[in-house]
This record gives sequence, structure tokens and C-alpha cells, in this order.
Amino acid sequence: MEVELKEMLDELESLKGSLPDPPNASIDKLQLHIKRLTDLAKSAPVRRSKLKDMSAEVVDSNPYSRLMALQRMGIVENYERIREYSVAIVGIGGVGSVAAEMLTRCGIGRLLLYDYDKVELANMNRLFFRPEQVGMTKTDAAVQTLQDINPDVVLESYTLNITTVQGFETFMSSLRNKTFRLEKEGSGVDLVLSCVDNYEARMVVNQACNELNQTWMESGVSEDAVSGHIQLLIPGETACFACAPPLVVASGVDERTLKREGVCAASLPTTMGVVAGLLVQNTLKFLLKFGHVSPYLGYNSLKDYFPTMEMRPNPQCSNGACLERQKEYLLAKPARDAAKAKMEAETLSAAEGPLHADNEWNISVVDNSEIDVKAAASSDTLPVGLTRELPSADEYPKLPATGPADMSVDDLEELKKQLEALNAD
Ligand SMILES: [Zn+2]
Repeated sequence: MEVELKEMLDELESLKGSLPDPPNASIDKLQLHIKRLTDLAKSAPVRRSKLKDMSAEVVDSNPYSRLMALQRMGIVENYERIREYSVAIVGIGGVGSVAAEMLTRCGIGRLLLYDYDKVELANMNRLFFRPEQVGMTKTDAAVQTLQDINPDVVLESYTLNITTVQGFETFMSSLRNKTFRLEKEGSGVDLVLSCVDNYEARMVVNQACNELNQTWMESGVSEDAVSGHIQLLIPGETACFACAPPLVVASGVDERTLKREGVCAASLPTTMGVVAGLLVQNTLKFLLKFGHVSPYLGYNSLKDYFPTMEMRPNPQCSNGACLERQKEYLLAKPARDAAKAKMEAETLSAAEGPLHADNEWNISVVDNSEIDVKAAASSDTLPVGLTRELPSADEYPKLPATGPADMSVDDLEELKKQLEALNAD
């Protein structure tokens, strides 16, 4: 375009010269217009064309060379598989929009974006949205930016409120839709990321994912903007959002009534960027099967403290779909144990024989699987000050023995003595 405009300018210049009566004001005006258009053309976004394959070729023009290098470095077995995956992001705010951009740059196959809100100037302290997008819906503005960054990603924009009846139905049917990958088992998406800012919407995402048996990740940033968390929720296997509900949800208070007049929540692009980064990092590990996916990871920015913990499902959860998923998970335990035993046996037979020959420096090589076992055992112990409130998913808690029938004679005697001592006071 710039070349054509330059040619037009040159032609006008020669036309001006050939005219009998220079200077010609209308030609000057035209030249000015063309100069302005040239400036505009220079600032317009340059869109690259779609790429059929992810190439590992190391050239400056390849948008995927650095990502494909993860494969060469031995971190990821098959990076290109990322193109098969669909991720749904609910809430395109300070965390969701940044997560969407990261996944787009990583070359995710398909992104489904949900939000009902519009871009405001008050959002400009965060990353992603630009002032000229004020007034656009967040989903449409996101699609506009993301398709320029990476046209290979299939983007779906859903401008709706999932907490309404109609919104929930559309949300559910969009998650079920398998046209992107017909042979996929389960729902039509591989992961749902919740990036919303209220409990009501989280409970709705929780309900949808429990019903669909859909793994999801929850994220949040505190109202004072200095801490956040991410959490992995696998229906039946880990605690769902209703298994250990925050006090406001458990007590049934409408959280909207808690918003104090004139007081607005703080937000920092840094905290939101960190939480979005942790969320997408764990998304990549989950999808591409590398490293360890954190079941819960907190972030306290004031102390740079990152607590982790595991949360088992609550057998008394108030969510019916969660209880059904828990039942299914327990029923599948024998098959799961058998598969685990088989895998361990294979690992053992592969590791047979000495891991290292004797050497003069007394250096010994430790089998990776031994480290994993130790790490798994230590991850079960909680940091000081934390207690586990929920039982393990695989075993229901043993109810405390009740009634005198279960008590031994000694116990009864002891109890009698205590009662007598109490009465004597
Ligand atoms: Zn639950």
C-alpha cells in the first residue's frame, strides 16, 4: 500500500509539472491527502497470513521457532499438539485478557471468550486493552487484538452473562460443541479457565464443569490487589468450588450487598500479570503434559510467598453433580490402581541393573523415579500453621466410634470416674 501511495505522489508531481499554469491548489491538496494516508498506512497493524504447520525452522520470520525449541530442549515432547486444544476463558478482565493473549501467542488451537462487560477507561491500569477500544465489548475488543497477533488461533467471542438462565444455556452448549475436534472424548474443550471477579460466577462455572465432568482452573486476585491464587479443579478428584465454599457463599449472603458505596476494589497490572502467568504456565503444563501442575498455588506479593496445597473433595459437598463425580472417581479406583501398579512395574524393570558403575570420585547417580517418590511423599505434608480440613478422595473418613457398645470395659470405668469427679465439684 505504501508503495502505491508513493507512486501516486510521484504521478501527481509530474502532472503538476506538465500543467501550463502552476501552481495548482487542488493538486497540492491531493498530495497532502496522500501524505496523510501514507502515515496512516505506516501505523496500521501488519497482519501475517495463516500458517498450515508449526515449523521448528530457526529463522527470524518464523513465529513459532522459539516455542518449538521447547521440544528440542527436551521440555515438551510434542509442542505442535497445542493446535489441537481448545481453552475456554470466562471473564476477559485483568487476568482473563492477559491469559488469552499468552495462549494466543503460544499458538493454542481455539479460544472461547466469555464476558458481558465493555472496555472502560478505568481498565487502562491493566494490561491488554487500549484506549481506542473504550466502549467495545471486551470479547470483541479481545478478538480484534488477538487475531492480529496470531491469525492461526480460532477465536470465538461470547458476549453474555453466564449467571443468567439464557447465558448459562449458551455457555453449556458452546462447551459441548465438538466441531473443532470431532473425535475428542468428553466435552468440546480441553480446559476451562475461570478469570471472573465474583463468587456467583465462580459457582456457575463450577456447576457447569461438574455437570460436564470438565477439568477447570480457577484464578483470583484479592480486592487489595496484592495477592492472588490459582487452583486446579478435577471433578470428583479434587475439591470443587462448593466443597469448601468461601464464607460469603456458605452463609448464603448476596455478595452484591457487600459492595460498600463509593469504595472500589484496587487492581495492579503486576499482580494480575503474575496470576495470569501462573495460570497459563499451569495450563501449558496440563495440556502438553510436562512438569507438575499445581493443585493450588497462592501468591502473596508483600512477602513474595507462594503457598501450595492439595484439596480433596468434600463427601458432604452441597453440589449434587460433585457428589456424582466423586462416586464415579471412587468406583474407578481399582482400575486406576492397576494402571498405576503396571506403570510402576514397567519403570522398575526399565531401571534394573546398576544405575552407575563404581568410580574413583564416588559419584552416584540417583534414579529420577526415587526423587519423584520422595517429592510426592513430602508434598503430602502441609507447611507449618496449615491444617487439612477435607478428607482424602479415595477414602471416606472413619466415623468416630459411637455408643457404649463399641467401648471397652476399661473405657467405661474411666468415663465413670471422670463423671463422678465432675459431680463431686
Ligand atoms: Zn464439591
